[in-house]
Amino acid sequence: MALVVQKYGGTSVGTVEKIRNVARRVAKTFDDGNDVVVIVSAMAGETNRLVALADDICEFPSEREYDVLVSTGEQVTIALLSMCLQSMGYNAKSYLGSQIPVRTDNDHSRARIKSIDDKKVREDLKSGTIIIVAGFQGIDEHGNVTTLGRGGSDTSAVAVAAALNADVCEIYTDVDGVYTTDPRMVPEASKIEKISYEEMLEMASLGAKVLQIRSVEFAKKYNVVIHVRSSFNDKPGTLVMKEDQEMETVLVSGIAYNKDEAKVSVLGVPDQPGIAAKIFTPLGEAGITVDMIIQNVSRDGKTDLTFTVPKADCKKALKIVEEAAPTIGAEGVAHNEAISKVSIIGVGMRSHAGIAQTMFETLSKEGINIEMISTSEIKVSCVIDSKYTELAVRVLHAAFGLDNPTSVE
Ligand code: ADP
Ligand code: ASP
Ligand code: MG
Repeated sequence: MALVVQKYGGTSVGTVEKIRNVARRVAKTFDDGNDVVVIVSAMAGETNRLVALADDICEFPSEREYDVLVSTGEQVTIALLSMCLQSMGYNAKSYLGSQIPVRTDNDHSRARIKSIDDKKVREDLKSGTIIIVAGFQGIDEHGNVTTLGRGGSDTSAVAVAAALNADVCEIYTDVDGVYTTDPRMVPEASKIEKISYEEMLEMASLGAKVLQIRSVEFAKKYNVVIHVRSSFNDKPGTLVMKEDQEMETVLVSGIAYNKDEAKVSVLGVPDQPGIAAKIFTPLGEAGITVDMIIQNVSRDGKTDLTFTVPKADCKKALKIVEEAAPTIGAEGVAHNEAISKVSIIGVGMRSHAGIAQTMFETLSKEGINIEMISTSEIKVSCVIDSKYTELAVRVLHAAFGLDNPTSVE
C-alpha cells in the first residue's frame, strides 16, 4: 500500500464529464489499495475569467481581494470532485488551503508555502477517506487567503507530497509528459522519459509552462520524484528526478521559448561607476524582475544599456527608467515588446563544447538576427524578433536531433 498524491490541472477538470473521468482514475488508485490525496486546479479558463473580472472592476485591485477572488475557482472543483466520488460510494472530503492549513508568507498573488499541517489529512486517510485539496491557495499568518502564482497547483501538489512523505507525486495534465519542446508548437517534439531537476527548472524558467518553476524547486529540495502524465490515457509519462549519468550523454534535452518579456534600452549613458545601480535599484525596489542585461562597449564615453523585463511590468519599468534617465545623463529610453527568448537546455553542455555555436549558426542560416545572448552552465538563450519564434524553435529542435516522427498523444 502506497501513499499517492495526484494533481489534476485545469484542462483535466474542465467539464463535468472530465471531472467524472478524474473521479474514476482516483477511485481506481484507491481500489488498488492506496491512500490517495488529490490536488485540483480550477476548471480550464476559470482563473483567467476571474482575473479579467478583477481588472474590469478597477484599475489597481487590492492584492488581498485579488487572492480572495481568484482562489474561488479551486473551491468549485474540490467540491464537485468530492461529490462525484461520494456518489460512486467512496468516502471523500474536500479541503480549502486554509482548512488544511497550507501556511504561506503574505506576498499576495505569488505567496510561498512555509509549512503544511498533515494532521487532519493523516486522520482522514486512516479512516479510508480520499482527500481532495484545493491547489494554488494558502493562508498567511493573519488568516488572509493567499495564492501561489499562476500554475501554482503544481507547487501545492509537490509541497503536499513532501509534507506527507508520499511515495508518488503524479501531475496529470493534457499532454502525456514533458516534451523536448512545447508539443502544441512542434508536433515532432519527443517525450522525455526522465529529466533532471536542474534541466526541468531551466525549462520552466525559460518558458515551458508544463510545471510551475516553484514546484520543481520544491521537488529538488525535498527530493520528490514527479511523474508528469496525461489524465486522458495510461501511457507512462516523464519522471522529473535527480540527475543520473545517462542524462549527461544528451547534449540538448529541450528547447523553450518565452514571448512574455519586453526589451528596454537606456541610450547614450555616460560610462562611469554607479550608473547600473541607479537604474536597477529602483526597478528592484518596485518588485520588477530584470532578466537579461547587456551593456555595450563604450563609444566616446557613452554606452547603451539594454535589459529585459516581464511584459506585464514593462509600463511600470519604463516609467521608472524614464524618470532615472535625466538624472544619470542618459540620452533617451527605447523599448520593444515584439521580442521573444528562445533557449536550448541540457546538462550535457557542461562537458561538451560547440553547442552555442550550433545554435547561432542554425539561427543565422534562417536569417534570424540575435539581439541578446545569455548563457549558464546548462543553457543558452537568445532574444530574437518574436515573429520568428516558431521558426527558431523548429529549426533548433531539428538541428539538435530532437525531432520524432510520431506525433503527440
Ligand atoms: P494544466 O492545466 O494541466 O496545469 P498547463 O497548461 O499548465 O496544464 O501545462 C500543460 C501545457 O504545457 C501543455 O498543453 C503544453 O502546451 C505546454 N507545454 C509547454 N512546453 C511543454 C513541454 N516542453 N512539454 C510538455 N508540455 C509543454
Ligand atoms: N488555477 C490556477 C491557474 O490557472 C492554478 C493552476 O491551475 O495551477 O493559474
Ligand atoms: Mg499548469
